[in-house]
Amino acid sequence: MNSKGWKALRKIDHEVYLLKHVSSLLGWDQETYMPSRGIEERAEQISLLETLIHEKITSTATKEALEHAKEELEIENEPSENGLFNPLTPIQRVAFLREWNRKLDRASRIPKSLVSRISYATSVGQAKWAQARKEASFELFKPYLQEILILTRELAAALGYKDTPYDPLLDEYEPGMTCEILSPLFQQLQKNLAPMLEEIITTSNPEDPCLHLPFPKEAQEDFGKRILQAIGFPWDRARLDVSVHPFTSTLGKDDVRITTRYNPTYFPTAIFGIIHEAGHGLYDLGFGEEIRGTILAEGVSLGIHESQSRFWENFIGRHRAFWTYWFPILRKDYLPALEQVPFDTFLKSINRVCPSLIRVEADEVTYPLHILLRYNLEKALIEDTLSLSDLPAAWNDGMEELLGIRPSHDGEGVLQDIHWSMGSFGYFPTYALGTLYAAQFFSSLLKQHPHVLREVERGEYGTVVLWLREHVHVHGKVFSAEELCRKISGSPLDSKYFLQYVREKYLSIPK
Ligand code: MG
Repeated sequence: MNSKGWKALRKIDHEVYLLKHVSSLLGWDQETYMPSRGIEERAEQISLLETLIHEKITSTATKEALEHAKEELEIENEPSENGLFNPLTPIQRVAFLREWNRKLDRASRIPKSLVSRISYATSVGQAKWAQARKEASFELFKPYLQEILILTRELAAALGYKDTPYDPLLDEYEPGMTCEILSPLFQQLQKNLAPMLEEIITTSNPEDPCLHLPFPKEAQEDFGKRILQAIGFPWDRARLDVSVHPFTSTLGKDDVRITTRYNPTYFPTAIFGIIHEAGHGLYDLGFGEEIRGTILAEGVSLGIHESQSRFWENFIGRHRAFWTYWFPILRKDYLPALEQVPFDTFLKSINRVCPSLIRVEADEVTYPLHILLRYNLEKALIEDTLSLSDLPAAWNDGMEELLGIRPSHDGEGVLQDIHWSMGSFGYFPTYALGTLYAAQFFSSLLKQHPHVLREVERGEYGTVVLWLREHVHVHGKVFSAEELCRKISGSPLDSKYFLQYVREKYLSIPK
């Protein structure tokens, strides 16, 4: 039986996979070790590589290979290409074609000229945004954002949609998600979280100085690495480095780089950053043997990817059980000043809930509300029901309504995030989805392994890691986010798990 198309597509797929990792390596180096003046040629290098990847994806050879592979799908077992690729299972083969179909479909809908206009507008836009944020002047950024917005609407129209132009943008980051599903989910979250938040704040204790202690960078790094070691972060397949904004970059099937940043007088920045990125890293290192090196070896969606980092950072990393083990070590080996601090005071400090203006510094309870604000505003901007002139005021009113606080200037308001200047409309919701997925998965883990937190109290994470690998990591993109969520928890994504978690953690403990 002929399998020419299938063989050709597997080869193209693997080459695209390799090229993308080369591009990631250039990007990782840019954010970590590249000298500042290297940027000009680096931008050119990355842009050239991305063009080559795009050409490969949209080439006639790829289109033909995909068409043939579709015909060959039903008729035979996958031939092994001299041991070069692991044969995929029938379910994986279907997913493989689905993903290639999606990739080609999206790529062929977007005109080349639009891609380069967006690329130019966002590259100028990012520079203008940085300046505008510094000067806290939205007016400075407004004409550039207007241009980006017009192009983004054009992009949405090119991709096509049924209900709202926001849907195809959202779908880029969270495949399968639509406003029809998302809006009620977020409304439910807001309706229930707001009254809880009020109660949590009134019973919350003031900030304790115990987190603001001198803690040299090297010692923080050592502590962070001990935690990574304990959760089984594989040092022969991963690295930890420093960058301005923490991130995870995958450079190969056995090469994941995570970064963090160090504040020498406030260690939670680095430590929770490390635990967060490790969650992303473990996901990328955990894809199943057959799908490694293919289009399926990726997170299902940004929401699911973020669920892995939030799971470790918040649900495990801020849990009493976690610090039952690590607090004595922190005190003994790193911060003797903590000898005077009761464990409960420390625990409340790392779990302090307090509305704040800046999203990236928000606690786990108020964080999703920052996202709801952005979702409402960017959806209205894309749908053209909110004008840019009214955006700063709408932002400030929204902050007041959702969090009860009001920015004093646009630098700490509407200008704080880089995303819109990058044209990344539809990205923000994935942060909140990550939290909701994580809560739902955490609840399933506790149901299936009721004693798992006792292991965590002993500094052991084998059950947690294996459970995540088996239920989330190995599958890569084989199942959709919705299918994965149902498989794990028996139901579609629901904000009730997160709300329940917040209630139990913050409102049922005696103060
Ligand atoms: Mg993240």
